[in-house]
Amino acid sequence: MHLMERTVRCGHVTDSLVGKEIILTGWVDGRRDHGGLIFIDLRDRSGIMQLVFDPAYSSKVHEQAHGLRSEYVIGVRGTVVERTPQTVNTALATGHWELHVTDLTIFNRAKGLPFQLDSADQVDEELRLKYRYLDLRRPIMQQRFALRHEVIFALREYLHERGFYEFETPLLTKPSVEGGAREFVIPSRTHPGSFYALPQSPQLYKQLLMASGMDRYFQIARCFRDEDLRADRQPEFTQLDLEMSFVDESTVMTMVEGIIAYVYKKVLGVELTLPLKRMTYDHAFSTYGSDKPDLRFDLPIVECKALFADTELKFLRAVLDTGGSIGALCVNGHRFSHTELNRWVDRAQGLGAKGLLWIHVKEDGTVDSPVEKFLPKDFVARARAIFPSLAAGSVLFIMAGQYKSTWQLLGRLRLELGSALNLINKNEMNFLWVTGFPLLEYDEQTKCWSSVHHPFTSPTAGWQDVDFAQMKARAYDIVLNGIELGGGSIRIHDRELQQKIFDMLGLDKQTMEEKFGFLLEAQELGFPPHGGLAIGIDRLVMLMTQASSIREVIAFPKTQSGFDPLMEAPTPIGQAYLAQYQLKINNKPA
Ligand code: ASP
Repeated sequence: MHLMERTVRCGHVTDSLVGKEIILTGWVDGRRDHGGLIFIDLRDRSGIMQLVFDPAYSSKVHEQAHGLRSEYVIGVRGTVVERTPQTVNTALATGHWELHVTDLTIFNRAKGLPFQLDSADQVDEELRLKYRYLDLRRPIMQQRFALRHEVIFALREYLHERGFYEFETPLLTKPSVEGGAREFVIPSRTHPGSFYALPQSPQLYKQLLMASGMDRYFQIARCFRDEDLRADRQPEFTQLDLEMSFVDESTVMTMVEGIIAYVYKKVLGVELTLPLKRMTYDHAFSTYGSDKPDLRFDLPIVECKALFADTELKFLRAVLDTGGSIGALCVNGHRFSHTELNRWVDRAQGLGAKGLLWIHVKEDGTVDSPVEKFLPKDFVARARAIFPSLAAGSVLFIMAGQYKSTWQLLGRLRLELGSALNLINKNEMNFLWVTGFPLLEYDEQTKCWSSVHHPFTSPTAGWQDVDFAQMKARAYDIVLNGIELGGGSIRIHDRELQQKIFDMLGLDKQTMEEKFGFLLEAQELGFPPHGGLAIGIDRLVMLMTQASSIREVIAFPKTQSGFDPLMEAPTPIGQAYLAQYQLKINNKPA
């Protein structure tokens, strides 16, 4: 008889089974021959159980067990026995017991593996992805995907309880008219010469579901972006997408907080304190140089123009005279050598800064700095008025230039200092809402205004009375440990306002009709007020499992260059195949 029907999983063997006969199935994780006895670690997704083969239990089975090798797939029957105190393995959940095997079925053999599972962390990632099914056999990967499943299950549970309907919106959708949107396009065979696009997000469909009176929508949505290579981005990723009718910002934010708290509690047993912290975009940027500050450590950026008002330092003078800004990070409690300080200057330049000025307060209260002789005698006293924590040993890292770019650089330097100086508590989960975003941003290159979020985002009241740059959006982003987890907004539901926004973005009437005619029309046919948000599930699971990248929590991810080494996609297709779509490759570089 084949031992196919296990009676328990390997990792679930407990005291209550001692003396009982059970059937286990799984993979041979390791084998040790000890004289007459053969020990096998049998692994399934729940864990490992030690099997013992002894000629005394069955000489035939013992003989068979000699042939077992790593990753053979087997089934065994045997009796659960308590281990002697000396042989207990406390590192294993099942380490108090072993199975004395009386029957063995070998379901399949395995030849030598392309890499050893327990050293997969050291092998080239492309090899891991080519043999992803082997990589996924590793306990750490099995745990990550078990957790991912639990997260998605908890999301569904919570949202169902609150009256959300789950929808699937189309994956074959309409390409953006002008093609600048980094979409994947799909040729249509039945409409030769026409193309679908894969959605970057279900944004417009979910809004239309609100127009349909569905009231509360969610989707575990696959989104596609044909972006250029950037660290830790995937061409397809999953987000929890949701939308609600008759809501304002606080209703959506409270709902999302509830969802996250529920998932953390249910999956990790961690209690979050609600409401989550909130911060305006202006505050986040002026204090941390980022719209997604990592608040696990403080180290604020401090504006310190006043300290250099009468400086003779040429580069600072030039910045001040042209309306620029001077900002500093004040690091306390770290002893930097000159070499280290100069390395931070190199690092800042590596980030794109023109320079970085450091001023070190010595034990005797005087300063040490490459520009020391240009600093006034009472510099420390004056600086202390701006940096109250300044003390012996403190270092000021100073940058000067145009506000936005300088603060962005200081923000990045802050993060690097935080991690290099171990200022970050790795176990902390620091959630933050960022609100009060600008509605629009100006692109110097294209000389155009574009939406900071997307063009369906409502402006805050009073938008008519201010310049484009001053308009704010009814948008909110949720940030965890400096990573943007998600974002959303209250949307426009009124045609007139939507058209005005399109106008500001430079869309002419014809393009507006071509691209968004269906939305504008829907907005005239009874569109309720609504808002929503999307949360990146891959990122959330990455942070919950403390994995190093989203690729570690996506079952079959692409490499950083968007390639799938397992299936070998993308791949060229033949002329005959292309002909069905009336397409031809001209083989000329684009
Ligand atoms: N559609 C947005 C996104 O994918 C999220 C939202 O506004 O709901 O980022």
